[in-house]
Amino acid sequence: MNKETRVIPLIPLRGITIFPYMVLHFDVGREKSIAALEEAMMKDQEIFLVAQKDAKIEEPEQEDIYTIGTLCSIKQLLKLPGDTVRVLVEGLNRAKIIKYIESESCYKAEIDILEEKDCVKDNKCEALVRSLREVFEEYIKISGSIPSEALISFEDMDSPGRLVDTISSYLMLKGDIKQELLEAFDVSKRIEKLIVVIKNELEILKLEKKIGVRVKSKIDKVQKEYYLREQLKAIQEELGEDDEDKKEINRYKNKIKKAKLPKPVKDRAIYELERLKNSGSYSSEGGVIRTYLDWILDLPWNTQTKDNMDVKKAREVLEAEHYGLKDVKDRIVEYLAVKQMSKSLKGPIICLVGPPGVGKTSIAKSVAHALNRNFVRMSLGGVRDESEIRGHRKTYVGAIPGRIIYGMRQAKSKNPLFLLDEIDKMSNDFRGDPADALLEVLDSEQNSTFRDHYLELEMDLSNVMFITTANSLDTIPRPLLDRMEIIEVSGYTYDEKLSIAKQYLIPKQIKEHSVDENMIKFTDSGINEIIEGYTRESGVRNLERQIASIIRKTLADMLETDKKDVSISTNQVRKYLGPVRFTYDKADKEDKIGVVTGMAWTAYGGDILPIEVSVMNGSGKLELTGQLGDVMKESAKAGYSYVRANADKYDINPNFYKEKDLHIHVPEGAVPKDGPSAGVTMITAMVSALANKKARHNVAMTGEITLTGRVLPIGGLKEKCLAAYRAGIDTVIIPKENEKDMLKIPKSIKSKLNFILATEIGEVTKNALIEEN
Ligand code: ADP
Repeated sequence: MNKETRVIPLIPLRGITIFPYMVLHFDVGREKSIAALEEAMMKDQEIFLVAQKDAKIEEPEQEDIYTIGTLCSIKQLLKLPGDTVRVLVEGLNRAKIIKYIESESCYKAEIDILEEKDCVKDNKCEALVRSLREVFEEYIKISGSIPSEALISFEDMDSPGRLVDTISSYLMLKGDIKQELLEAFDVSKRIEKLIVVIKNELEILKLEKKIGVRVKSKIDKVQKEYYLREQLKAIQEELGEDDEDKKEINRYKNKIKKAKLPKPVKDRAIYELERLKNSGSYSSEGGVIRTYLDWILDLPWNTQTKDNMDVKKAREVLEAEHYGLKDVKDRIVEYLAVKQMSKSLKGPIICLVGPPGVGKTSIAKSVAHALNRNFVRMSLGGVRDESEIRGHRKTYVGAIPGRIIYGMRQAKSKNPLFLLDEIDKMSNDFRGDPADALLEVLDSEQNSTFRDHYLELEMDLSNVMFITTANSLDTIPRPLLDRMEIIEVSGYTYDEKLSIAKQYLIPKQIKEHSVDENMIKFTDSGINEIIEGYTRESGVRNLERQIASIIRKTLADMLETDKKDVSISTNQVRKYLGPVRFTYDKADKEDKIGVVTGMAWTAYGGDILPIEVSVMNGSGKLELTGQLGDVMKESAKAGYSYVRANADKYDINPNFYKEKDLHIHVPEGAVPKDGPSAGVTMITAMVSALANKKARHNVAMTGEITLTGRVLPIGGLKEKCLAAYRAGIDTVIIPKENEKDMLKIPKSIKSKLNFILATEIGEVTKNALIEEN
């Protein structure tokens, strides 16, 4: 390479690299660059073009441009509108910057012109050139971006150096790769590099093609199917054949005709059918419409069952299927009687409230049976969203109707008995309150035009008889409660359970297991053992389960031992059900100071609640231990205050709250208990301990207390008295205001207990504590 240094005006290029032999025009806008051009024109029309490392830099310094560029001759200049100049240049030689000359007006550099020395034409060089031509040919074929004539001009190109540079200038390459090619002085190395670059490009091109083909084939397939389908339609139309679509449309048409739909529903169905015709059966829209039509056609718009109006027969059915539950049975019979008089009477909305397993669900089923109505049941437990009741709007993907419409479809008649179970277990969240939707359903003024979001049609629910169930009324929203007629279903006494087992549960289970009734017989003591030792519940659900379990086990046993009949007594029960699971607390056998028996109501029925108080010297601390819920703790504190305020009445040292510590303990017992009704028991136990008076062991009590000592009424009297009787108590002290509830206590129990009615605490302590003379 010959060396020659000259000072030449310079233009930094943005995003372009110029190779020797390359002819190119580009636009120049920067002031300094234009000045460089002008200076070049004044001299020998040569300019040095070198690429910027980063095209974004507006005023590059020396370190922002590469050191190797191309010396070019300016062939043409053209002033464009604005301050832009278009220039046509031809690359002459590679050149290297020796010194970058800073000047205010334009860029200049002292450059070293690198005269090219071609590679020696030996075999190696020839081989390289051939490979280069080969890969480039392939590149032209695949890319299609370079006219193949270009190849012909390359044929005559003798100089390998020139060939490489020309090819390089044709390729669409990244700036830094072009610069690398420019910087490769050694021609054979330059050829090698270019071969690698082209091969790389070829790989990328092939991959792009592959992806392109795949995408295109997908699109082609969809289009093809569409065309074929259209053709098929046309052919079928030509042949006058009914295609599947038409058959389906006709099917729907017939169904709509037969369904005897109300006018608005019919109109809507016809409208939807039109839409189905136009949308094509394969479209997703078609699917949505079909589901909707099916819903409309499946609902009982006009189907009605005929009510049984025979009061006597209804009563018979109700009695045959359930023991007790008098209030419910009477209410239904009453309804029927009134309905016979006034034909337009709307069904009552009954809410059955009571502990689990007392037969709320099954009596509702019986009512349906007695009235000859279809029965549907829907649980509201865990429903939190309004749309579960009223459905999702059809615009949602996968929308479905709400549970009411769902139930109506199941019911298959417009006047079913619809049981809404667990109405107290509903909750609400941000998606709207389901209770609001339910209000509308249960309101006889509104429910003749109930509108489901999905159906968007009005459905008449006014002929539906709704019965709801709940375990407690506390969590039912007030407006909902107002719409309903509450009937309480309380737990069963031991005797009632025995009767239910004998008359209903055992025959039912025997029948369900297909056993002859003479094969397995339950003795009273056997049933008693199951009730007392293996179930603890207000209802009879577990009792029924245990009976079923005994029947299964007995059957297996009979098959193994070839016995023909078995009687189930206490021993059999223990054998099949294992060790006794529950025992009831028994009251103390002797009178003690500071030990008083209360009565409590739990989810499993009643139980007794012994409270113990002990007094010791101290500084007036009140200690509470054992199984006390928050409400009972409050009662203890209120009781303590009452005793302090009334110490003189009970011969208690008035300074006890300074000199004595009081410890109240509530033994755990089998079942956790809490509630305000332990108030009287707390005070009586405290007075007994502080005044040193024994409490009668055969007395139990219940009652809420005020700070002034008034005794307030309590709930669950029947269950509490049952528990007291079971524990061996003979006298119960109850609030006077609960006198009316004594009616509910079965006679068998009432006759064995002595009742004391109290209005204030003095009467309680007087009867419960023993005055020593
Ligand atoms: P709930 O709905 O109150 O929780 P269920 O209706 O499920 O209770 O009753 C549980 C089982 O007990 C049912 O098999 C039912 O037939 C039976 N049962 C409950 N009470 C009675 C009753 N009074 N007479 C006959 N069977 C009863």
